[in-house]
Amino acid sequence: MKQIVVLSGKGGTGKTSLTAAMAHIAADQHTLVLADADVDAANLEILLKPAKLEEFVFTGGYKAEIDNDRCTKCGICFDVCRFNAVIPPDSSENNYRIDKISCEGCNSCVYQCPENAITSERTTAGAWFVSRSVYGTLYHAEMKAGEENSGKLVTTVKNAAISKCTELDEPILLVDGPPGIGCPVIAACAGADLAVIPTEPGVSAIHDLSRILKTVKHFGITPAVCINRSDINPDKTSEIEKFCGEDGIPLLGRIPYDPAVTRSMSKGLPVNAFDPSAPASIAISRIWEAISSLIRT
Ligand code: SF4
Ligand code: SF4
Repeated sequence: MKQIVVLSGKGGTGKTSLTAAMAHIAADQHTLVLADADVDAANLEILLKPAKLEEFVFTGGYKAEIDNDRCTKCGICFDVCRFNAVIPPDSSENNYRIDKISCEGCNSCVYQCPENAITSERTTAGAWFVSRSVYGTLYHAEMKAGEENSGKLVTTVKNAAISKCTELDEPILLVDGPPGIGCPVIAACAGADLAVIPTEPGVSAIHDLSRILKTVKHFGITPAVCINRSDINPDKTSEIEKFCGEDGIPLLGRIPYDPAVTRSMSKGLPVNAFDPSAPASIAISRIWEAISSLIRT
């Protein structure tokens, strides 16, 4: 199995559109397994329209809870909490209470409460799903707002996808990764054979590209770059190509600005399912050929 992860140093570079288009092309040649590792803003399912087969609860960290019937309002929990998560009584509420967003689940208040009025429970932080799309089984997830551990959820989604790939002896796992360089990106990168990095010729392109390249190289993953909307700033596009050339980063190709991409989005389709003869569809087909050669070597 070859694991291809699509990443970008920042959001909005066309990562999910590219992943969906590559899934459309790849599914003509192989069966594949897909994973949406952008668990904080998963949207690959909007383009792939899968049917949900299974749903699993994802538990997050611990959060404190005060039993007001036992609480004597001594204020010790307020004093010991280093995260300002204990809210004292005020004009709107006559009890001590916990701000669940601020609570780090450290349990100091639980141990210090003289009345044993505080308990600590694991929260439901989200859910993950196994779905069937026309291009293969899709593993994806939803994180609740304000919850943490998104790296752990990415690992959960990816491990399930890897198990499926191994079980079915599928040749390709295609992962739509999260933007940025944080914990979920590192989780999405783990074990990848190739990181496909779409970038755009904007003013911060080289800066954003450098950050994600450093991250993937640190984890020993081969990067390859493609330039999306390459014709909107030809000077910047040349600068990116020069930068990649000097650093020995394979360039997969350019994708021109193409209104067919926007129209395909509004129809909820990968661009090459919407219009295979559109310039962007043709460019992405060539990019997939370049990726196929890279993962064969
Ligand atoms: S430490 Fe316990 S008894 Fe004291 S205010 Fe907090 S919850 Fe109430
Ligand atoms: S568990 Fe820790 S962070 Fe949460 S309210 Fe208690 S002391 Fe504060």
